[in-house]
Amino acid sequence: MRYIVCLLMFLLTGCVSIPHESTLKPDLTINPILYLRVRIVNEIVITGPEDAPLIDFAREPADVDADIDYANNLLYEAGIQLVASQRELWVLDDKYNKDFFLKGDAKCYDDCVSIYYLFPRPECFVGYRGFYQIGFGPFPWLKEYGKGLVLYGKLCNKTTLVHEISHVVGGLQHTFSPANTVLDVEMTADPSYHNVMNYSQGENVFFTAGQLDLIYCSTVTWHRNCIIMERMP
Ligand SMILES: [Zn+2]
Repeated sequence: MRYIVCLLMFLLTGCVSIPHESTLKPDLTINPILYLRVRIVNEIVITGPEDAPLIDFAREPADVDADIDYANNLLYEAGIQLVASQRELWVLDDKYNKDFFLKGDAKCYDDCVSIYYLFPRPECFVGYRGFYQIGFGPFPWLKEYGKGLVLYGKLCNKTTLVHEISHVVGGLQHTFSPANTVLDVEMTADPSYHNVMNYSQGENVFFTAGQLDLIYCSTVTWHRNCIIMERMP
């Protein structure tokens, strides 16, 4: 029933700006945990001789796994878990910018969320409010993009994946965005407010109950074909 209500709400509001008035997190005694298929693409550079190649990763594989674990710890209360079911290593050069990945490649994989760990590109250094762009995750209703997000691995920290995937999968806005309609989110850019959707450097980042609920609703609305398993906790 919850799915139907959420779906109707999104359809009726025209999929653009979505009023979201809940401050109740998902009730996991009646809703299953949704396991989402994600595909990891890690950009690499190979140096050294053929018999003893040295590989530099945009993000070290152990750090990629740690990012997923960190995201899953926070997303558990939203009833969402990421499952890295496909991993690829790509050799590229930096003329391939985020549009190549998100408006091109990701569109070929509609049944998973593609996560691209890239080396820094010139586009990273066009700062916003003094920040480098360390990742980019488009909202799910933006049809020019496939299901995916870009992370500039050398610049990332452990919260970058969960932040970007919350835009892509959860449809969450920044805490400081006027478009943020989740009732229990403080409207602030103050870096001491360690919400996942703020630009905070804090250790103990959190989602509010309203954000957790929106992530769940958004997932069943926009990403149902990425769900590989539903299981009661
Ligand atoms: Zn963001």
